[in-house]
Amino acid sequence: MQDSIKENIKNVELKLDEAAKKSPYGNNPTLIAVSKTKPVSMLMEAYETGIRDFGENHVQEILEKYEVCPKDIRFHMIGHLQKNKVKYIVDKVFLIHSVDSLALALVIEKESVKKNVESNVLIEVNVAREESKFGIFKEDTLALIKEIAKLPHVHIKGLMTIAPYVTNPEDNRRYFEELKALSIDIGNQNIDNVCMDVLSMGMTGDYEVAASCGATYVRVGTGIFGERNYNK
Ligand SMILES: *Cc1c(COP(=O)(O)O)cnc(C)c1O
Repeated sequence: MQDSIKENIKNVELKLDEAAKKSPYGNNPTLIAVSKTKPVSMLMEAYETGIRDFGENHVQEILEKYEVCPKDIRFHMIGHLQKNKVKYIVDKVFLIHSVDSLALALVIEKESVKKNVESNVLIEVNVAREESKFGIFKEDTLALIKEIAKLPHVHIKGLMTIAPYVTNPEDNRRYFEELKALSIDIGNQNIDNVCMDVLSMGMTGDYEVAASCGATYVRVGTGIFGERNYNK
Protein backbone atom coordinates (compact mmCIF):
# COMPACT_ATOMS: atom_id res chain seq x y z
CA MET A 1 0.00 0.00 0.00
CA GLN A 2 2.68 2.49 1.04
CA ASP A 3 4.83 1.73 -1.96
CA SER A 4 1.94 1.56 -4.35
CA ILE A 5 1.47 5.36 -4.41
CA LYS A 6 5.06 5.80 -5.49
CA GLU A 7 4.76 3.06 -8.08
CA ASN A 8 1.51 4.49 -9.39
CA ILE A 9 3.11 7.91 -9.83
CA LYS A 10 6.09 6.44 -11.64
CA ASN A 11 3.72 4.57 -13.90
CA VAL A 12 1.58 7.64 -14.67
CA GLU A 13 4.67 9.73 -15.37
CA LEU A 14 6.01 7.10 -17.77
CA LYS A 15 2.72 7.06 -19.63
CA LEU A 16 2.69 10.85 -19.75
CA ASP A 17 6.16 10.86 -21.28
CA GLU A 18 4.99 8.39 -23.91
CA ALA A 19 1.85 10.39 -24.66
CA ALA A 20 3.79 13.64 -24.87
CA LYS A 21 5.97 12.13 -27.57
CA LYS A 22 2.83 11.60 -29.63
CA SER A 23 1.61 15.16 -29.08
CA PRO A 24 2.02 17.58 -31.96
CA TYR A 25 2.26 20.40 -29.44
CA GLY A 26 5.49 19.37 -27.74
CA ASN A 27 3.87 19.58 -24.32
CA ASN A 28 4.68 17.37 -21.38
CA PRO A 29 1.94 18.01 -18.85
CA THR A 30 2.45 18.60 -15.16
CA LEU A 31 0.82 15.93 -13.05
CA ILE A 32 -1.68 17.18 -10.47
CA ALA A 33 -2.24 14.49 -7.85
CA VAL A 34 -5.93 14.69 -6.96
CA SER A 35 -5.92 14.02 -3.24
CA LYS A 36 -9.53 14.82 -2.35
CA THR A 37 -10.89 12.56 0.39
CA LYS A 38 -7.38 11.17 0.98
CA PRO A 39 -5.42 11.68 4.22
CA VAL A 40 -2.37 13.90 4.52
CA SER A 41 -0.19 10.81 5.02
CA MET A 42 -1.00 9.77 1.46
CA LEU A 43 -0.30 13.26 0.11
CA MET A 44 3.06 13.09 1.78
CA GLU A 45 3.84 9.80 0.05
CA ALA A 46 3.31 11.58 -3.25
CA TYR A 47 5.21 14.63 -2.02
CA GLU A 48 8.24 12.47 -1.34
CA THR A 49 8.38 11.45 -4.99
CA GLY A 50 8.59 15.12 -5.96
CA ILE A 51 4.92 15.91 -6.59
CA ARG A 52 4.10 19.49 -5.54
CA ASP A 53 0.75 20.01 -7.28
CA PHE A 54 -2.33 18.63 -5.52
CA GLY A 55 -5.96 18.87 -6.58
CA GLU A 56 -8.80 19.31 -4.11
CA ASN A 57 -12.47 20.11 -4.50
CA HIS A 58 -13.68 21.04 -1.02
CA VAL A 59 -12.82 24.30 0.68
CA GLN A 60 -12.84 22.83 4.17
CA GLU A 61 -10.50 20.03 3.14
CA ILE A 62 -8.07 22.48 1.52
CA LEU A 63 -8.00 24.52 4.74
CA GLU A 64 -7.28 21.48 6.89
CA LYS A 65 -4.54 20.19 4.61
CA TYR A 66 -3.05 23.64 4.05
CA GLU A 67 -2.52 23.99 7.80
CA VAL A 68 -0.36 20.89 8.12
CA CYS A 69 1.26 20.39 4.72
CA PRO A 70 4.64 21.74 3.58
CA LYS A 71 4.35 25.29 2.30
CA ASP A 72 5.84 24.52 -1.10
CA ILE A 73 2.76 22.49 -2.02
CA ARG A 74 0.57 24.10 -4.69
CA PHE A 75 -3.11 23.43 -4.02
CA HIS A 76 -5.36 23.49 -7.07
CA MET A 77 -9.06 24.12 -6.55
CA ILE A 78 -10.56 21.84 -9.17
CA GLY A 79 -14.15 21.56 -7.95
CA HIS A 80 -17.13 23.87 -8.13
CA LEU A 81 -16.49 26.89 -5.92
CA GLN A 82 -19.34 28.52 -4.05
CA LYS A 83 -19.18 32.31 -3.92
CA ASN A 84 -19.54 32.46 -0.14
CA LYS A 85 -16.48 30.24 0.30
CA VAL A 86 -14.08 32.17 -1.91
CA LYS A 87 -12.86 34.24 1.02
CA TYR A 88 -11.41 31.21 2.79
CA ILE A 89 -9.12 30.09 0.00
CA VAL A 90 -8.07 32.95 -2.31
CA ASP A 91 -4.80 33.34 -0.45
CA LYS A 92 -4.21 29.59 -0.12
CA VAL A 93 -4.67 28.11 -3.58
CA PHE A 94 -2.25 28.30 -6.48
CA LEU A 95 -4.86 28.11 -9.24
CA ILE A 96 -8.66 27.97 -9.36
CA HIS A 97 -9.63 25.68 -12.26
CA SER A 98 -13.37 26.10 -12.07
CA VAL A 99 -14.41 29.67 -12.87
CA ASP A 100 -17.52 29.61 -15.02
CA SER A 101 -19.38 32.84 -14.30
CA LEU A 102 -18.73 36.56 -14.02
CA ALA A 103 -20.47 36.55 -10.63
CA LEU A 104 -17.90 34.12 -9.24
CA ALA A 105 -15.01 36.05 -10.78
CA LEU A 106 -16.30 39.27 -9.21
CA VAL A 107 -16.24 37.66 -5.78
CA ILE A 108 -12.71 36.35 -6.40
CA GLU A 109 -11.70 39.91 -7.37
CA LYS A 110 -13.23 41.40 -4.23
CA GLU A 111 -11.70 38.85 -1.87
CA SER A 112 -8.31 39.05 -3.59
CA VAL A 113 -8.23 42.78 -2.97
CA LYS A 114 -9.12 42.24 0.68
CA LYS A 115 -6.36 39.66 1.12
CA ASN A 116 -3.93 41.64 -1.00
CA VAL A 117 -3.28 38.77 -3.43
CA GLU A 118 -3.52 38.17 -7.18
CA SER A 119 -5.68 35.20 -8.19
CA ASN A 120 -4.88 32.95 -11.13
CA VAL A 121 -7.84 31.17 -12.65
CA LEU A 122 -8.90 28.88 -15.47
CA ILE A 123 -12.24 29.07 -17.23
CA GLU A 124 -14.13 25.79 -16.99
CA VAL A 125 -15.71 24.86 -20.30
CA ASN A 126 -18.39 22.19 -20.59
CA VAL A 127 -17.18 21.07 -24.00
CA ALA A 128 -19.35 17.97 -24.11
CA ARG A 129 -22.44 19.94 -23.04
CA GLU A 130 -23.32 17.51 -20.29
CA GLU A 131 -26.29 18.67 -18.23
CA SER A 132 -24.81 17.32 -15.01
CA LYS A 133 -21.64 19.37 -15.30
CA PHE A 134 -20.60 22.87 -14.36
CA GLY A 135 -18.71 25.00 -16.84
CA ILE A 136 -19.87 27.25 -19.63
CA PHE A 137 -20.50 26.31 -23.22
CA LYS A 138 -17.85 26.88 -25.84
CA GLU A 139 -19.76 29.59 -27.66
CA ASP A 140 -20.08 31.66 -24.46
CA THR A 141 -16.46 31.41 -23.41
CA LEU A 142 -14.96 34.38 -25.26
CA ALA A 143 -17.59 36.83 -24.03
CA LEU A 144 -17.11 35.72 -20.42
CA ILE A 145 -13.33 35.96 -20.71
CA LYS A 146 -13.56 39.51 -22.06
CA GLU A 147 -15.54 40.54 -18.98
CA ILE A 148 -13.32 38.76 -16.45
CA ALA A 149 -10.22 40.21 -18.14
CA LYS A 150 -11.26 43.64 -16.84
CA LEU A 151 -10.78 42.56 -13.23
CA PRO A 152 -7.32 43.69 -12.14
CA HIS A 153 -6.67 41.04 -9.49
CA VAL A 154 -8.01 38.05 -11.43
CA HIS A 155 -5.74 36.61 -14.10
CA ILE A 156 -7.00 34.09 -16.64
CA LYS A 157 -4.28 31.55 -17.42
CA GLY A 158 -6.18 29.15 -19.64
CA LEU A 159 -9.02 26.65 -19.87
CA MET A 160 -10.17 23.54 -18.05
CA THR A 161 -12.64 20.81 -18.90
CA ILE A 162 -14.03 17.68 -17.30
CA ALA A 163 -14.68 15.19 -20.08
CA PRO A 164 -17.51 12.65 -19.92
CA TYR A 165 -17.09 9.36 -18.14
CA VAL A 166 -16.38 6.87 -20.91
CA THR A 167 -15.07 3.32 -21.16
CA ASN A 168 -12.97 4.05 -24.23
CA PRO A 169 -10.82 7.13 -23.57
CA GLU A 170 -10.46 7.72 -27.31
CA ASP A 171 -14.11 8.80 -27.26
CA ASN A 172 -12.98 11.94 -25.42
CA ARG A 173 -10.29 12.88 -27.92
CA ARG A 174 -12.63 15.17 -29.85
CA TYR A 175 -13.48 17.12 -26.69
CA PHE A 176 -9.83 17.62 -25.79
CA GLU A 177 -9.11 18.70 -29.36
CA GLU A 178 -12.02 21.13 -29.21
CA LEU A 179 -10.73 22.69 -26.00
CA LYS A 180 -7.23 23.00 -27.46
CA ALA A 181 -8.63 24.67 -30.59
CA LEU A 182 -10.70 27.05 -28.46
CA SER A 183 -7.66 28.04 -26.43
CA ILE A 184 -5.73 28.80 -29.62
CA ASP A 185 -8.60 30.91 -30.96
CA ILE A 186 -8.87 32.90 -27.74
CA GLY A 187 -5.11 33.26 -27.44
CA ASN A 188 -5.05 34.76 -30.93
CA GLN A 189 -7.34 37.57 -29.75
CA ASN A 190 -4.51 38.97 -27.61
CA ILE A 191 -6.81 40.17 -24.84
CA ASP A 192 -5.13 42.19 -22.10
CA ASN A 193 -4.77 40.24 -18.83
CA VAL A 194 -5.59 36.93 -20.54
CA CYS A 195 -3.15 34.20 -21.39
CA MET A 196 -3.98 30.78 -22.77
CA ASP A 197 -0.86 28.91 -21.70
CA VAL A 198 -2.65 26.45 -19.42
CA LEU A 199 -4.88 23.59 -20.52
CA SER A 200 -6.18 21.46 -17.64
CA MET A 201 -7.72 18.27 -19.01
CA GLY A 202 -7.54 14.52 -18.52
CA MET A 203 -8.21 12.34 -15.47
CA THR A 204 -7.35 8.75 -14.55
CA GLY A 205 -9.36 7.27 -17.40
CA ASP A 206 -8.20 9.53 -20.19
CA TYR A 207 -5.08 11.49 -19.24
CA GLU A 208 -2.96 9.91 -21.96
CA VAL A 209 -5.37 11.04 -24.64
CA ALA A 210 -5.53 14.53 -23.09
CA ALA A 211 -1.72 14.68 -22.95
CA SER A 212 -1.51 13.89 -26.65
CA CYS A 213 -3.97 16.73 -27.36
CA GLY A 214 -1.97 19.48 -25.68
CA ALA A 215 -2.87 19.27 -21.98
CA THR A 216 -0.45 21.17 -19.73
CA TYR A 217 -2.01 19.80 -16.53
CA VAL A 218 -3.57 16.38 -16.09
CA ARG A 219 -5.57 15.71 -12.89
CA VAL A 220 -5.14 12.15 -11.69
CA GLY A 221 -6.70 10.85 -8.47
CA THR A 222 -7.72 7.20 -8.56
CA GLY A 223 -4.74 6.26 -10.70
CA ILE A 224 -2.41 7.45 -7.93
CA PHE A 225 -4.26 7.04 -4.63
CA GLY A 226 -6.79 4.31 -5.47
CA GLU A 227 -10.56 4.43 -5.30
CA ARG A 228 -12.18 7.10 -3.15
CA ASN A 229 -14.58 6.33 -0.33
CA TYR A 230 -17.09 9.15 0.06
CA ASN A 231 -18.96 7.53 2.95
CA LYS A 232 -16.40 8.20 5.63
C1 LIG B 1 -11.95 13.96 -8.76
C2 LIG B 1 -11.49 14.77 -9.92
C3 LIG B 1 -10.41 14.35 -10.72
C4 LIG B 1 -9.69 13.03 -10.53
O1 LIG B 1 -10.49 11.98 -10.95
P1 LIG B 1 -9.89 10.49 -11.11
O2 LIG B 1 -10.79 9.85 -12.08
O3 LIG B 1 -9.92 9.88 -9.76
O4 LIG B 1 -8.51 10.63 -11.63
C5 LIG B 1 -10.02 15.19 -11.75
N1 LIG B 1 -10.63 16.37 -11.98
C6 LIG B 1 -11.66 16.80 -11.25
C7 LIG B 1 -12.28 18.10 -11.56
C8 LIG B 1 -12.13 16.01 -10.20
O5 LIG B 1 -13.17 16.45 -9.48
